[in-house]
Amino acid sequence: MSALSTVLTLVMHATVLLVFWVPWTWQLLALAAGSYLLRMWAITAGYHRYFSHRAFKTSRAFQLVLGVLGTTAMQNGPLWWSSWHRRHHRYSDTARDAHSPVQRGFWHAHIGWFLDGSHDHPSLANVRDLARYPELRFLDRHKWLPLIAYAGAMYWLAGFPGLVWGFFVSTIACLQVTMCINSLAHVWGSRRFDTPDDSRNNALLALLTLGEGWHNNHHHDMNSARQGLRWWELDVTYASLWLLEKLGVIWELRRPSERGPLRRRAARLPEGAPAPDGTSL
Ligand SMILES: [Zn+2]
Ligand SMILES: [Zn+2]
Repeated sequence: MSALSTVLTLVMHATVLLVFWVPWTWQLLALAAGSYLLRMWAITAGYHRYFSHRAFKTSRAFQLVLGVLGTTAMQNGPLWWSSWHRRHHRYSDTARDAHSPVQRGFWHAHIGWFLDGSHDHPSLANVRDLARYPELRFLDRHKWLPLIAYAGAMYWLAGFPGLVWGFFVSTIACLQVTMCINSLAHVWGSRRFDTPDDSRNNALLALLTLGEGWHNNHHHDMNSARQGLRWWELDVTYASLWLLEKLGVIWELRRPSERGPLRRRAARLPEGAPAPDGTSL
């Protein structure tokens, strides 16, 4: 982040202290929770499962909706986010991973990498499929516009208390919980699959992130839109995507084992050998 972005992010954290001057009401708590859930959904369904992993297809219009919503979460634009996330899967928990608690410690993986200024301008070569859309490039360049508009909407809805609870508190909660996937979900939890990284499954994180806490499942099969595999592994995002598919808003929703594990098996075959799905490597 630029120095200005870093300062503003830190100031945003400090604004949470305003809750001591603006007492909560049930309406304000509901606004904060709704605002949190909307942006968390935009990050997990949009930035993560759609933009980073292309786990489903949709129209260009709904793609833009996902992009705008995600940008209101103060986690930079969709190209920046996806570029670093794709690198995370490629080099997970190695020295080239931007946020690995195994490599550079918990706090660097959690927020240090985001604030230290060295990850502002990733090469976008690994997100060319997204960068060909001018509207997504615009969002990445003008990431503050949707954020400021969203803050304005919260103020319009409930005045200054709405800004404090519906924007400051919920934005920071959403940011911190998202960052827990980079830090905690590679340290705390169980491992169902013997992936080459330290990813973990964690029910509490899954609850808070609408399904992203099944992170070991996800590293095992990153192209699947579904991350909770057992009936008790709650994955609200997948349920919502299933519904959107039924409504015709999205399509070709990737289920587990369609592409991910197939590719992993294929990757272990000798070079040049045909992959199990008949395609050549
Ligand atoms: Zn991970
Ligand atoms: Zn991922």
